[in-house]
Amino acid sequence: MQRILTIIGARPQFIKASVVSRAIQQTDGIEEILLHTGQHFDANMSDVFFNQLGIPRPNIQLDIHGGGHGEMTGRMLMEIELALLKIKPDRVVVYGDTNSTLAGALAAAKLHIPVAHVEAGLRSFNMEMPEEINRILTDQISDLLFCPSDTAVRNLEKEGFTDKPAKVLQVGDVMQDAALLFAENAAAPAVGDFPENFILATLHRAENTDNPERLANIVKSLNQIHNEQAPVIMPLHPRTRRLISQHGLELKIHLVDPIGYFEMIWLLSHCQLVLTDSGGVQKEAFFFGKACVTMRDQTEWVELVEAGVNELVGSDTQKIVTAALQNYGRKVEDTKQLYGGGKASQRIVEAIKADHIPDFLTPRFSPNHT
Ligand code: UDP
Repeated sequence: MQRILTIIGARPQFIKASVVSRAIQQTDGIEEILLHTGQHFDANMSDVFFNQLGIPRPNIQLDIHGGGHGEMTGRMLMEIELALLKIKPDRVVVYGDTNSTLAGALAAAKLHIPVAHVEAGLRSFNMEMPEEINRILTDQISDLLFCPSDTAVRNLEKEGFTDKPAKVLQVGDVMQDAALLFAENAAAPAVGDFPENFILATLHRAENTDNPERLANIVKSLNQIHNEQAPVIMPLHPRTRRLISQHGLELKIHLVDPIGYFEMIWLLSHCQLVLTDSGGVQKEAFFFGKACVTMRDQTEWVELVEAGVNELVGSDTQKIVTAALQNYGRKVEDTKQLYGGGKASQRIVEAIKADHIPDFLTPRFSPNHT
């Protein structure tokens, strides 16, 4: 029996891991132990996803959140190492690009436990983003790199992975698996009267929320669109709520607390446009046939921009307003199966099962004090 330890901690990771967990449960010879770092801990940022998506309760629940990046990552590193020494997994699986991803991968790699990275190879080429640092470093210390797109594979090739012992596999995107699997569970959020013909917006990236000027420009554009064009609904991330009020700004749109995944996919299927700075939501717009306006200067999902279904507008108020007008109501189609068509989690589990631990890795379950 191959024992894998899955490390998750933030909202998008619960969604990604839910479909891989399912595939593991349907596969013989492989068992999963789940560690939740506690990075996201509110009921509506964590519990709701375990309940809705049928994710098993974490076997190990840490309580690490807040503080600076170094503090959070450092505390995770210490506690994850202790958990690894106790559980002695054959492999660790990490997802995406958060501090939980990097801490999990680093703790495992230092104990010579092989690391599989789901969503490997994504790059924004913006080293100011904490996510970019987490991704690059996690890829470097993983031995199984599961890429969601051809672009991600090319990025890794350019970084020299062709000559490394690590295995790079294009498996497709687990978020498409989730979108397809749970589409039939879509449920209207219970948030009172619902405006019709709405725009769905999300905003939480540090590059926007932590930069007062960018944040003010985006708030201004959303208020203007809501006033002059169409109602804007935004499930507001707790960090964004805090920073908006800290900067003395006011979002005068239809704000709701963070919602569950079933409610989110209902909004995605019923909206006229998606306006976001999220990574996952850019693709979900596409999965649900909607055009997307992305309030960032770069995207890791460049194939969506190339396909003309996602427009990158940064934080410029006028550009956001104009793009919202131009893309409103536009339907888009996934003609090229850019993200694997819903088979990613199955491919990931097959690859993990088939893989034997590379020769250069021998798990070492006693800390090395050199
Ligand atoms: N999401 C959700 N409820 C919300 C906001 C987002 O279920 O209130 C989902 C969204 O549909 C997507 C994931 O959370 O599947 C994206 O997470 P987020 O935008 O926080 O992170 P990113 O993708 O930017 O890393």
